[in-house]
Amino acid sequence: MRLREFYETNDVAVSLEMFPPKSDDGMVGLFENLKELMTFHPSYVTCTYGAGGTTRDLTLDIVERIHNEFSIHVAAHLTCVGATVDELRAYLRDAEERHVDFIMALRGDPPKGEKEFKPVPGGLTYANELVELIRKEFPGFGIAVAGYPETHQEALNRSVDLENLKRKVEAGGEVVVTQLFYDNDDFYRFRDSCEANGIDVPIVPGILPVTSVKQIKRISSLCGCKLPPDFLARLEAQENNPQGQFDVGVYHATHQVEDLVARGCPGIHFYCLNKSRAVATILRALALPSIRVHHQQKAQ
Ligand SMILES: Cc1cc2nc3c(=O)[nH]c(=O)nc-3n(C[C@H](O)[C@H](O)[C@H](O)COP(=O)(O)OP(=O)(O)OC[C@H]3O[C@@H](n4cnc5c(N)ncnc54)[C@H](O)[C@@H]3O)c2cc1C
Repeated sequence: MRLREFYETNDVAVSLEMFPPKSDDGMVGLFENLKELMTFHPSYVTCTYGAGGTTRDLTLDIVERIHNEFSIHVAAHLTCVGATVDELRAYLRDAEERHVDFIMALRGDPPKGEKEFKPVPGGLTYANELVELIRKEFPGFGIAVAGYPETHQEALNRSVDLENLKRKVEAGGEVVVTQLFYDNDDFYRFRDSCEANGIDVPIVPGILPVTSVKQIKRISSLCGCKLPPDFLARLEAQENNPQGQFDVGVYHATHQVEDLVARGCPGIHFYCLNKSRAVATILRALALPSIRVHHQQKAQ
């Protein structure tokens, strides 16, 4: 099945993002949690590529194992960080041999402590160049690219960022998966701007259910997404109560997803952080992935 086709059915395409764990226990936990999430029939599972290419082999080991154990489509993330074009090619060849279906094609972040992204000699500077490489030399892969509802942190401004997103789509990006966000209005504004700029591919919202206020403050400061003040206040009111933080975070994410689906999003990409409880609670509460049919019937 081609990547784009997941977003053309009556079901909401649910994709799950995992990351390579640092320990053997972490790996056991990842697969246990994934087993639970498989009962909800997600469309595909992705695995991130560690900052600086640190998890190169592990990323492919994980997606290969997910493909083999669960017979599900898989996507491997790939960034341009620290890699020459030949090294990127080698990863893509390896991914092909291991039956990876899709590539999440990214530039990656500058290394810690550096403000600016600098390619290695013989490397690539922007994600659109990676998309071009994949489309030209590895045409069998479906390609997803990243989009930023609140604008990428390094972008000159919103419209330049959209032009750059369009470049990635024109180079062959079939689907845009967004950075996490907590105010759906940011997403709708972004989706409208994509449409106005002729970015005519599925725009898939990325949702990270908050389960810990400390963790989300760190993540949001790194990726530059804002936490709406009322949401943050409700989380902070549970500062000494982990279960309370989980409840507030999952309640918020459930409402976000319900609204996104009701307003026509063809899929939801969950940043699972290798856990299942929060995402499973949302999928169960909303009867995803088949809710779209329900909403369409309601609208008739
Ligand atoms: C869904 C998703 C998954 C992710 N997975 C990973 C992962 O696995 N590993 C990881 O390390 N990081 C990951 N990231 C983070 C990502 O690597 C960073 O956000 C990174 O800073 C930008 O990557 P990009 O692919 O969007 O870059 P680009 O699209 O190249 O954009 C980077 C910046 O350059 C500008 N720009 C783009 N093209 C051009 C051009 N041709 N000329 C001039 N300016 C340009 C853009 O406006 C933007 O400001 C992910 C992000 C998302 C949303």
